[in-house]
Amino acid sequence: MTEQTPPAWDRYTATLFDALFGAGIAEPAAETERAQAAALLNQAREANLTAPILDLFTFLSHQANEQQRRPEAFGIERATLEELAAKHQRIDEHMVSVGGRLTQARPIAAEANARVDAYLAEKDVLAPSGIELWDKILENQQRIKQALQMSDDDWNSFPGQIRHAVDSIETLADLVDLPEKAVASIARVTKQYRMRLTPYYTSLIMPGTVNDPVMLQSVPTGEMIDNAGIEIPPVAADHSPARLIDQFYPRVVTIKATNMCAMYCTHCLRIAHIGRKDQIYSREAYREALDYIRANPRIRDVLITGGDAFVLPNSMLKWLLEELDAIDHVKLKRLGTRVPVTVPMRVDEELLDIIEASNDIKPIRVVTQINTAQEITPISRNTFRRISKRCFTVLNQAVLLKGINDSRVKMWKLCETIQEAYVRPYYIFNCSYRNPQFTHFRVPLEVGRDIVESMYGNISGDAIPRYIATAGGKIPLHRDNVMAVSDASYTLRKPWSGQEVTYPDADPHLYANEDFAFAGYQD
Ligand SMILES: *Cc1c(COP(=O)(O)O)cnc(C)c1O
Ligand code: SF4
Repeated sequence: MTEQTPPAWDRYTATLFDALFGAGIAEPAAETERAQAAALLNQAREANLTAPILDLFTFLSHQANEQQRRPEAFGIERATLEELAAKHQRIDEHMVSVGGRLTQARPIAAEANARVDAYLAEKDVLAPSGIELWDKILENQQRIKQALQMSDDDWNSFPGQIRHAVDSIETLADLVDLPEKAVASIARVTKQYRMRLTPYYTSLIMPGTVNDPVMLQSVPTGEMIDNAGIEIPPVAADHSPARLIDQFYPRVVTIKATNMCAMYCTHCLRIAHIGRKDQIYSREAYREALDYIRANPRIRDVLITGGDAFVLPNSMLKWLLEELDAIDHVKLKRLGTRVPVTVPMRVDEELLDIIEASNDIKPIRVVTQINTAQEITPISRNTFRRISKRCFTVLNQAVLLKGINDSRVKMWKLCETIQEAYVRPYYIFNCSYRNPQFTHFRVPLEVGRDIVESMYGNISGDAIPRYIATAGGKIPLHRDNVMAVSDASYTLRKPWSGQEVTYPDADPHLYANEDFAFAGYQD
């Protein structure tokens, strides 16, 4: 024994000792096992570390539980172990006991590990990112460049990408494998709905994959016109108090600054307005929008959306941001764009300088839309990195879409991949009920709730988006984890395990007392 008195054991260590010495067999164990124990004991004594002590106790408690062998079977006395248990607690910065660590913390961590094992095994197979697929994407690029006769300069420039954009089914069929039946169907749909893929975005499609998640987002199928139902005009029609402006809330408005996008999405909420015919809006239209904002001092947050804000010329974005920055009550600006994933070449240094200059006056957020990890390539990741260096933050608004991101694995992977690409998951929108054109993409609410709830406790809190229904504003769809309420406490459910815990509420009488803290010292 050392001179130091061992600290009082916590109940976990007391129970651990009871278990070790409650076992029956004290006769010497086999030579190899005794040697193993001796080696572990030696390490536990020599090193001024916690791990070797934990290893020794792990070994001994395994022997006690499985073989009914007491530590004496390995020539180890109780006093020796008490000394080591004291040493463990002394070394540990937070005085964690060996019993607590071995019988509580480690099993809890092991149980938690099991919750993510399936995800870790499946994520790169079921939901590969564009970074993991990069070699294949580069092969696709070579093939597409050749077929479209694009030079490297064309490929690497925004005008080059737009000039060579894929807008006919014949061209598309040359670039990606399409079943013959699909070609006929898409030809029919594209008479009514615009299709346009940048060659870059086309290169993200994996040929031969049925329902490739990038293709689903960009190539319209027969359902778009065959789905039954009547289109309900976008709610925004009821919410446009001024030219180009949409307003649901008192303090946030959007300016629909353009109806153009670099790529047209098959699930676009604004399908009625977007992509029909490219329009350049007049300065008068913007001035009327700005006048409305100027005249309404409640408005503090202005979203420049579209279409896609980044298809506007730099000069136009610069002017709009300067106008907004000059309005005292406008405190924040947001730019809505998918360009960093559909045609990252657009994001030039001049645009970044404009963003930075405006962000230095009042914060800018760039709000993007990424729906599958496959859309994050080394190029788009780098683009988000460059943008995020210049502005307050980049946020993602994903849409929950069947076949694209409607499983735990796909959505977790999306959220983790974008977080690693300098983008914060912000919203997951439930796919709109208003457009029969994409009822085939809709996912039941309970599935969406399960996916979002499953993220809590399993991926970084910072990577968990809010689940939203758009219905004349954004309405949260999260599952309620408050199971029961009594006077003094709540019963809460842990989303990751279903375990219910009692959560004592604040005392309402105490809360009603105004005479608290420093107020209590007043005469
Ligand atoms: C999405 C949207 C907003 C912004 O909502 P937040 O919850 O603040 O992100 C504001 N106005 C309109 C019209 C919108 O569509
Ligand atoms: S980028 Fe946005 S606005 Fe443009 S087509 Fe896609 S969903 Fe619609």
